[in-house]
Order: sequence, then structure tokens, then C-alpha cells
Amino acid sequence: MAKDKTKENIEWLEKAVEQGYGKKCKDFQKDCWCCRAWEFFNEIKNYYLPNCDWKGKCKSKAFREIYHKKGWSYLCKKHFYQEQKRFKKQGKELGWAGLEEFEKVRNYKPKKRLG
Ligand SMILES: [Zn+2]
Ligand SMILES: [Zn+2]
Repeated sequence: MAKDKTKENIEWLEKAVEQGYGKKCKDFQKDCWCCRAWEFFNEIKNYYLPNCDWKGKCKSKAFREIYHKKGWSYLCKKHFYQEQKRFKKQGKELGWAGLEEFEKVRNYKPKKRLG
């Protein structure tokens, strides 16, 4: 199996952005090139190396991508199991996919409920 270079590439890009635009500004300003470069970098990083989405507070590395009413979101290990437990208690099953199955996940369309 080919070695996954995603992490290396992201780290390279981070360095390139820092060299080109400088360190992140303290406050985001949409007219600032530096801020925009970092915003772009974050978008890419979140796509390839996502972090947990838990209420926007958790910064841990994502472990699973789950499906719920609002759509797909990422959860770290801790929050994934927490959420799975919560669903079980309610007699429901949590829909999820492993991050290694990105393509499948992104092309997944939940079946429409009839009636
Ligand atoms: Zn800035
Ligand atoms: Zn988390």
C-alpha cells in the first residue's frame, strides 16, 4: 500500500503559507491577505485532516464521521463513543463511517424515509 502523504503535504503547505504570508493574525479581517491565506489553509486542512466538530469546542483529531439530522460531522474518539451510547439509550443507531472511507462517505446519500 502506498504511504499516505496527506499529513506531510499539509505540513508542507502550512510552512509555505507561513513563509509567504507570515504567522496568523490575532483577529480575522476579510481584507487581509494573510488572514485569507490562513483561512484557505484551514479549509484544506479540515478537509483532509479534520478535527472533531463537537459543539465547536473540541479540537481533537477526528476519528469518525457521523450522520445525524444536520448532516455529516466529525467526532473524535471520545465524543464518538459518547454519542453512540446516547443513541443506544434512545434505541437508535448512530450512522457513521471511518475516515479512511472518505470518498464513500462524501458520495453517500441517506435513504429517504417513506411516509
Ligand atoms: Zn490578517
Ligand atoms: Zn471531540
